[in-house]
Order: sequence, then C-alpha cells, then structure tokens
Amino acid sequence: MQHLPNDPEIRVRDLVGAIEPHLIDVRRDIHAHPELAFEEVRTAGVVAAELTRMGIPHRTGIGRTGVVGVIQGGRPGPTLAIRADMDALPMPEETGLPFASTVPGKMHACGHDIHTTTLLGVAEVLQQLAPQLAGKLVLIFQPAEEALGGAKAMIADGAAEGVDMAIGFHNAPDMPVGRFGFCRGPTLAAADRFDLLIKGKGGHAAHPYAAIDPIVAGAAFVSQAQTVVSREIKPLQPAVVTIGMFHGGTAPNIIPESVELKGTVRTLHTEARDVAEAALKRLATGLEAMHRVTCTLDYRRGVPPLVNDDRVLDPVIAAVRAQLGEVISEGVPSMGAEDFAEFAGLMPAMQLRIGAGAPGRDDRLHNTHYQPDERCIGLGVQALSRAALEILS
Ligand code: MN
Repeated sequence: MQHLPNDPEIRVRDLVGAIEPHLIDVRRDIHAHPELAFEEVRTAGVVAAELTRMGIPHRTGIGRTGVVGVIQGGRPGPTLAIRADMDALPMPEETGLPFASTVPGKMHACGHDIHTTTLLGVAEVLQQLAPQLAGKLVLIFQPAEEALGGAKAMIADGAAEGVDMAIGFHNAPDMPVGRFGFCRGPTLAAADRFDLLIKGKGGHAAHPYAAIDPIVAGAAFVSQAQTVVSREIKPLQPAVVTIGMFHGGTAPNIIPESVELKGTVRTLHTEARDVAEAALKRLATGLEAMHRVTCTLDYRRGVPPLVNDDRVLDPVIAAVRAQLGEVISEGVPSMGAEDFAEFAGLMPAMQLRIGAGAPGRDDRLHNTHYQPDERCIGLGVQALSRAALEILS
C-alpha cells in the first residue's frame, strides 16, 4: 500500500466526519425534490453547485442531464471513474418523513438520492487529498438509470472517454447499515425484451375451422418459451424468460385477428443470452408452421450483464477492509439489471453494495415506505474514497 503522510484510515474518517452533517442536509434536499429520468435538472444543479463550492471542474448537460467532474491527482497515473445515478421513480411516497417528497407521484424509492450525495462526499474528501492521488478521478453523476438509458446517453456524450476503470455502487436495504457486499464475476443480469405479434384470422367462435386462432398459437408460444431455460440454456448459467403481457380478444364468442405478447429475458452470461435470443426467434418461426399464423418478433437487447472484474474488485475489497474492518462479504448475483453495466462493458469495473438496512425495519427498494439508514452515506463515502486512494496510489 502507498505510504501516506498521515494514516489514511484516520485521515479519511476525519474528513468524512467533518462533512457528514452537510451531506445529510444535501440528501434530504434531493430526497424532497425527486426528478424522473432525464428530468434531473434541479438535482444536476445541486450537484454542479456543490462541485463549484469544492473547486472541482465539471461539465453539465452530459447525457442530457448528467454531470461529470474531474479531480486531477498530484502525480501521473490511470483514470478511475466512480458513477452515481440521480433519478427518482414515478410512485408516491408514504414515509411521512419531514423531508418526504414534495412532488406528488414521484419518490426517491431506490435511494439514488443517497448515491448522488455519497458521490458528492467522495468528491469533497478526495479533492482535499488530491495531491496524494496518482492519476485522475472522474465523478459521473448519471441521469435515467431506472429507464436504463442514462448510461448510454452519457457514454454517447464522451463520459467514458479516457477512463481506464470504473466503480459503481448501490444502497442495499437487505444488508444492515455498516455492511458491504460484492459478487465475483457476473453480478447483475442482461435485460432484453421482446414483443411478439401473432396474426391469425378472426372469425366466429363456433366455427374455428374457418378461422386461424391466434390465442391457441399464443398459448403454445408461452408454453414452448418455458423450454428455452429448462432445455436449451446450460443449467449453470442462470436465465429467466418471463412473458408479462398477453393481450388479445374482445368477447367469448369471437376468435380475434391477432394477439400480442411482451416479455423479458434476463441472463448473466453472454452465451446464455445468445442462446435465448436465437431460441425465441426459432420458436416464433416454428409457430407459423405449427399454427398457420404469422409471427412478428421484435427482440431488443437492453443492458448487458454487469460483470465484476477482479482487477477493480480486489483493491476495493482490500480498501473497505483497511478502512472499516471485516465488514464486506461475498453475496449472490441478482437477475435484476442496472445500466452501470454499460460502463462495465467498456472497461474493468465493479459494483459495490452498500448496506442501508435500518435496525428493526424490513425495507425493500421501489417501495413507497422505503427509508434507508442515512449512516450508509458517510460509510459509503469512507469506503469509496479509500478505494480510490488505493487504486490511484
Ligand atoms: Mn437503483
């Protein structure tokens, strides 16, 4: 480890302690003013004002409403990015907190207010330690994670250019505050979606021989789709095929012209992803021969799987242990998706889970009552600041 003039553990802890009350104020302000995907104008303004106050150069309007700040280290070295998302969700808040959402129908129920604030804390700590950094730290404040479009938009505007590696993070109510988690390798799923339009021939329900029934064909497709995971994808490569929408028909005695199905495919491995896409396309084609229907399958790839890279993961684990003790442990991957994967697809990266569970509460993300334990902000700032110090040493 790098030799610092002062013990880095104490230095980081003291710096975080000094700014923690301000960070709580910032978080509550952002929480009270939630903004949806690509509408984060006020939030980006708060971020920009804070970075200006810290003397950190930054650009706004990256990926529409994103902000990118840069901390130049005192010595040459690689460029590390830390990314936080800023958007809220279209749902009401029912926490009853004094700083609850002031915007009807919008809530920071995924804790992206926590993320934005945590990265601001990291910015302030590392700006003060900048002379000790070897390399550059890029602070990425990203819009529209929930819509899974913000990372792509920021990358299109150059946010990843010249960046050698990246760290993402998410608050985790299923872990008590003070704990941290990670996965080795694949940690979050690729999220693809498909729309299938099955066209038959409408007619009287009493004379099915004179019609071509798209409902029966659609039912066959739903059943066959279940064999993709069970019969075609390797059992040690997790995958999910869910058809969440099946629309068709207007009355019990009418065979409709067509039905429409929509679904999602989640995979942790590129190989399984390829197999699933090919299989669903083949099943749609086969359905035409089986049932005389016409199928139009629109299969759209979403975010790639988020795969943690040991080259970033290992120094982050070491840094968390050095800063906070034996508080980090390996968890299991999730079939959820996160568009930090767009950055991780371009460079070595890792996603850190930051325990945010408050004692005595059984909280879940995307819940109208979600109340993360705010102590996760200061602890997250300590962990991420120390990780950046470690990597840029
Ligand atoms: Mn989230």
